[in-house]
Amino acid sequence: MSYDSANIFAKILKGELPCHKVYEDDTALVMMDIFPQSTGHALVIPKTPSRNLLDADPAALSAIMPLVQRVAAAIMAATDADGIRLAQFNEAPAGQTVFHLHFHLIPAYEGVALAPHGGGKADDAELAALASAIAARL
Ligand code: AMP
Repeated sequence: MSYDSANIFAKILKGELPCHKVYEDDTALVMMDIFPQSTGHALVIPKTPSRNLLDADPAALSAIMPLVQRVAAAIMAATDADGIRLAQFNEAPAGQTVFHLHFHLIPAYEGVALAPHGGGKADDAELAALASAIAARL
């Protein structure tokens, strides 16, 4: 399957749609997931267009992982989470809903179940506060 540049993350990367931005550089954007599975759920999105892991440029993959690690640590510090899940879905049967490669960082809190993937929308003010708290720790 091929990359479709009309996907929602491509539009966010082009600035055509808003997001709760945590971080951006020449190669990646980090933003809050607006339908979070837990408080602090963020997405790390490489700018190089690829549908998912299966068609990604290996160089883009190696370049993104240090940022995934940094953001994971910043989320842990900003949220006081007890753990964090890294998730990444490839094609619809595996749970992918947006077809531009991205990495989920989902904090986990002792005794609190994760919300379902693609659940309810979070409050914008809360997402904005989390985005700046995480950004401050990057
Ligand atoms: P996936 O199912 O792995 O493709 O994940 C797509 C993720 O993007 C889901 O967790 C959605 O909650 C999230 N999402 C969808 N639209 C937006 C948006 N406009 N801004 C931020 N996150 C979004």
